[in-house]
Amino acid sequence: MDERRIETQIAVIGSGAAGGTIARELTRRGMNVVVVEKGPDWNWPIGHYIAYRTLYNIHRSKENVIIRRGVCTGGSTVIYSGNAFNPPAGFMEMLGIDFSDDLAVMRKELGVAPLPDSFYKGWSASLRLVESAQQHGITLKLQEKLIDSDKCVPGCDSCLLGCKRGAKWTSRPFLEEAKAGGALLLTRTEVERIEIENGKARGLWARDREGDLFIAAEKIILCAGGIGTPIILLKSGIKNAGTHFFTDPMSILFGVTRGKGMRSEMTYTFASEDYLGEFLMGTTSAQNSMTAQVLRHPVKALAKLPSFPHGIGMFVKLCDSAGGRIDETGAISKPLDADDRGRMEKGIRLAKKIMTSAGADPDSILVARYIGGHPGGTAGIGRVVNSSLQTDIGGLYVCDASVIPRSMGVPLVLILVSLARWFSRSLVSSETAASAS
Ligand SMILES: Cc1cc2nc3c(=O)[nH]c(=O)nc-3n(C[C@H](O)[C@H](O)[C@H](O)COP(=O)(O)OP(=O)(O)OC[C@H]3O[C@@H](n4cnc5c(N)ncnc54)[C@H](O)[C@@H]3O)c2cc1C
Repeated sequence: MDERRIETQIAVIGSGAAGGTIARELTRRGMNVVVVEKGPDWNWPIGHYIAYRTLYNIHRSKENVIIRRGVCTGGSTVIYSGNAFNPPAGFMEMLGIDFSDDLAVMRKELGVAPLPDSFYKGWSASLRLVESAQQHGITLKLQEKLIDSDKCVPGCDSCLLGCKRGAKWTSRPFLEEAKAGGALLLTRTEVERIEIENGKARGLWARDREGDLFIAAEKIILCAGGIGTPIILLKSGIKNAGTHFFTDPMSILFGVTRGKGMRSEMTYTFASEDYLGEFLMGTTSAQNSMTAQVLRHPVKALAKLPSFPHGIGMFVKLCDSAGGRIDETGAISKPLDADDRGRMEKGIRLAKKIMTSAGADPDSILVARYIGGHPGGTAGIGRVVNSSLQTDIGGLYVCDASVIPRSMGVPLVLILVSLARWFSRSLVSSETAASAS
């Protein structure tokens, strides 16, 4: 049978935060782009509980750390909370890349801002937690969001199930723009490996429902995320990928008060950066903290269901050490060292104090430990790629969470979108310079 084959200038693997942005930026700059996405282009379940079965890919490390990612068009941006974080001090220095101009452009374009007061002024349970934290010397401050408050409905709290109103930014509109500009988006097409010849990437092998497909490309940009990218690199013979895995695992607490709970109070509206570098802590809605309990200990969680209307929630998100590893079968090892566990337990103790002073019965508090959603580190700058995000293989680049060498404990979407814009500009400049010489 003849080989199924596509030819393109640029192949982008993955359509999440980084891949979607790169597809748009390169198409805008006149490049011929094919985006290859493993997941489906689901639309109908967005905003419904069935999203957990269709959009989410849930992994368990051999140490039982749970890691969630989105596998669909838009990747994990479809299921993220919509929080925006600037790179913390020292972040760009760690990368050896100054993307501050791109950050400014993307912040403006995406309308990064906290939710308006009118959203949360009636969220009495969240505000009780803010007040109680203050009594313990901790500032839970209003977070910046990648959410258009004109389209968002307060109390919906479906960000993690896919926003059906288009209020939360995802990379999907960027993909639409790329498609309108001529890019080809292949969905349900899983990249297996990169074809390398004489130290240069020649193309990639992928598989869709019809079988194997070869995509010949002048340049290949891996944006398959902290889990997908190292698997492809390892299968392609790039053996130093897959180490230094981090995932910012969270512990999520659910407690029962006598008063009104946080049933419709948006997750991650208030958070504390007082312990940045150790952990972040913040508020979660009752439904999201209950979902975490169901993932971790379903029987205990179900016993708490009658008290659900009085449920309040908090999370502690650990800045974990980069001690994990992914192999080419996708098996994950994520050991947590004594320091990791010590920092997490410190955060949990503080969160329990805050919840208790906010009215939660201390005996009612359930803790779902170690549920992560920020996989990265597995193709780190200085290890697998250089500061131009290029591997040792000619024409093969990585731009996604896997290039971040170690966790600084902050959510990465705004950072990755800005880095992806910087990368696209740099790639086009170097192409232009090469063709001029
Ligand atoms: C529940 C949850 C809440 C979160 N909340 C926030 C938040 O509020 N703020 C924030 O900044 N971050 C948040 N994050 C983290 C954030 O979503 C990720 O850090 C970010 O999306 C990573 O971007 P990426 O481009 O590296 O990967 P992704 O966005 O995950 O994209 C990778 C893409 O590659 C595709 N892919 C994988 N393997 C292959 C393959 N072999 N072939 C083809 N395609 C492949 C995947 O299907 C996916 O579409 C959250 C994450 C989760 C899970």
